[in-house]
Amino acid sequence: MDFSLAPAVVDMCQRIRSFVDSHLLPLESEPSTYDEYESIRKELLDELRAKARAQGIWALAMPVELGGGGFNTVGMAACYEEMNRALFGPAVFNAAAPDDGNMFVLNRLATDQQKQKWLQPIIDGTVGSSIVMTEPQPGAGSDPAGMMQTTAEKVGDKWVIHGRKWFITGAAAASHFILLARTSTEPRRELTTFLFHKDQPGWRIVRRIGIMGPEEHGGHCELVFEGLEIPDEDRLLDVGRGMKVVQTRLGTARLTHCMRWLGMAKRAMEIASAYVDEREAFGIKLSERESVQLLQGDVAMAIHMGRLMVMNAAWKLDQGDYAQAEVSAAKIHVADTLHLAVDTAIQLCGARGYSKDTVLEWMYRYARQAKLVDGASEVHKMILARGFQKQGIDFWSWG
Ligand SMILES: Cc1cc2nc3c(=O)[nH]c(=O)nc-3n(C[C@H](O)[C@H](O)[C@H](O)COP(=O)(O)OP(=O)(O)OC[C@H]3O[C@@H](n4cnc5c(N)ncnc54)[C@H](O)[C@@H]3O)c2cc1C
Repeated sequence: MDFSLAPAVVDMCQRIRSFVDSHLLPLESEPSTYDEYESIRKELLDELRAKARAQGIWALAMPVELGGGGFNTVGMAACYEEMNRALFGPAVFNAAAPDDGNMFVLNRLATDQQKQKWLQPIIDGTVGSSIVMTEPQPGAGSDPAGMMQTTAEKVGDKWVIHGRKWFITGAAAASHFILLARTSTEPRRELTTFLFHKDQPGWRIVRRIGIMGPEEHGGHCELVFEGLEIPDEDRLLDVGRGMKVVQTRLGTARLTHCMRWLGMAKRAMEIASAYVDEREAFGIKLSERESVQLLQGDVAMAIHMGRLMVMNAAWKLDQGDYAQAEVSAAKIHVADTLHLAVDTAIQLCGARGYSKDTVLEWMYRYARQAKLVDGASEVHKMILARGFQKQGIDFWSWG
């Protein structure tokens, strides 16, 4: 078992660290960095994206011939973790959700013609994208295939869409949309995936949903479809293969969340360590106190476990495996680790940790979504239990 990274990955990690140190971390304490939704101001983001792209730190998971970095999942794991030491690192390097997962699925499953039309502009950073799956009650959520209400009906050589979606990240700023809709009631063939552009008539944003944490550009929106027409050539994969798209996208996308969250968890501990290394109470530095070290040790161990789980799942994905159990386990553990790290960091920083003088409170509100997005922790536990019930003790085999 060899955990060493390829020289190109090590080199890229160092370049990301240096970019983050010099261009991104200093911005976080500047109030003028943020927009009204606590994201990075768009003009500033565009400026930094141009700089990152010029340095070749850009869309690392995409093929080199399309303008990306050509990294495999293991390489991404190391690099994405470095990126999210900064709050806006993934957005600056074109590696943030949902664009990152959308690029991945289009690159994997779209035809060459579809890639040119729908993928290339996302890689180039000229448009944003959204994945449109979740629906309000009684529609699709944890159980997309079973519950989906949005329908696509074939009329001539077009598909006509009716339905309602919500929590669609980035929708108010996106141009390219990947939509899941019901085309059949046949088990395992219920869903089909379509691509549409924001300027096509027949759909609208009903509202931008207020959330507890900071928002990505374009927010989290509720959409209604009132007869959107999509040409058949903008269908992704065959009719009835929607769950294949979901599985392909979500496997890697869930893991990239974990990669980024580990970077954020590390940063939280970095902030706390700087404080306890300096701050004294009852005659000694806080960092010399064993009870403080126990808190730091617990988080250090959780982050280490998360990194091993992510790397193992990444390696399996690179072998062509779906790595369903590995990704589910990593998603549960790293979501918990992000909470633990940020909560512990706030505790160690005392009142300052609760203030807006550090980014810890931003992270704390952001972190709550980790146990929900791309499958609630309970659903991932169900997936693990199903795997174990089916395979018995072989569930833990190395092969
Ligand atoms: C910040 C944010 C961004 C998002 N972005 C997008 C997006 O861009 N596109 C998109 O399509 N969706 C998006 N979502 C939606 C997200 O994927 C769903 O919230 C998630 O899949 C859960 O679905 P649900 O909210 O309908 O929860 P429900 O299905 O209603 O479940 C509610 C709760 O019930 C429990 N539960 C459900 N099933 C089980 C089970 N089998 N066993 C045990 N307990 C269970 C869990 O605790 C779960 O949290 C986003 C959500 C958030 C919070």
